[in-house]
Amino acid sequence: AKANNSGSFSFFSREIEARMASRWQAERELEHALERREFELYFQPIVNLAAPEVSGFEALLRWRRAEHGVLTPPHFLPIAEKAGLICDIGDWALGEACRLGASLPPHIRVAVNLSPTQLFKPGFALDVARALAATNFPPSRLELEITESVLLLENAATHACLSDLRRLGVSIALDDFGTGFSALSHLRAFPVDRIKIDRSFVQEIDIRRETASIIRAIVGLARELGVKTTAEGVETPAQLRKLHGFGCDEIQGYLISQPKPLSAFRQVVEGPRAR
Ligand code: C2E
Ligand code: CA
Ligand code: CA
Ligand code: CA
Repeated sequence: AKANNSGSFSFFSREIEARMASRWQAERELEHALERREFELYFQPIVNLAAPEVSGFEALLRWRRAEHGVLTPPHFLPIAEKAGLICDIGDWALGEACRLGASLPPHIRVAVNLSPTQLFKPGFALDVARALAATNFPPSRLELEITESVLLLENAATHACLSDLRRLGVSIALDDFGTGFSALSHLRAFPVDRIKIDRSFVQEIDIRRETASIIRAIVGLARELGVKTTAEGVETPAQLRKLHGFGCDEIQGYLISQPKPLSAFRQVVEGPRAR
């Protein structure tokens, strides 16, 4: 193969061109994905360790794109964000999560991820109230997950947004906890009900003593502040044992189940069907 400079340059530019074209194509398809009903919510169970039982599900967006199979959010949400489609998609996800949530037993909550753009949209709390009313889903069973980074963006505005939402009776979880800056001070400044300890910490819990100490401290502090803890990305029994020992409230991860369409869990949450 030719290895001169101009050759490798044209190779790279062609690759970049191809990527741009496929991105543009994806954007065009995303614009029609809602009306074509190509989005779907997968559900991942969350297990309460004290019970132990499934206490909720996190709703995770999927795009069933023709000839590309089922795509996960990192493959299309950034494009949707740039194309200004994120709020429409987020509205759909919220409505769908409430609709499906209403079909679950009353002790089961549903967690929905929010993009910052969605959270800061004027009147967002009203949209949430409408989605709840339209589906008859009790606010106490809806949890909204926001990433820690959101809290760095605005301050008074963020505080007002979160307070409005909590006034509705929904709860707020801080997602990916520990990955942002000054994580702990957020617990003091913002009204949150739960923190979700990021998978990057959980992965190291039985490998690095320092990481184990950090998780134990976070769980202890959260408990003192009356904030619940959920550990994300739990994949092994050893991780589970450590988290249980530290007093973590809930776990979520492949050890329990991958995210799947809700129909896959009917048996689990409703028990075997009576014959
Ligand atoms: P997240 O909220 O942190 O969700 C957890 C991600 O980790 C999910 O990826 C889930 O499938 C994956 N996961 C769960 N357990 C394990 C495990 O044990 N091991 C490993 N390796 N991974 C695990 P997914 O579904 O690809 O979603 C990626 C991100 O996309 C989510 O991260 C969330 O930030 C965002 N997202 C998902 N659904 C929505 C949505 O409806 N709206 C918005 N705005 N964002 C969403
Ligand atoms: Ca999440
Ligand atoms: Ca997370
Ligand atoms: Ca994440």
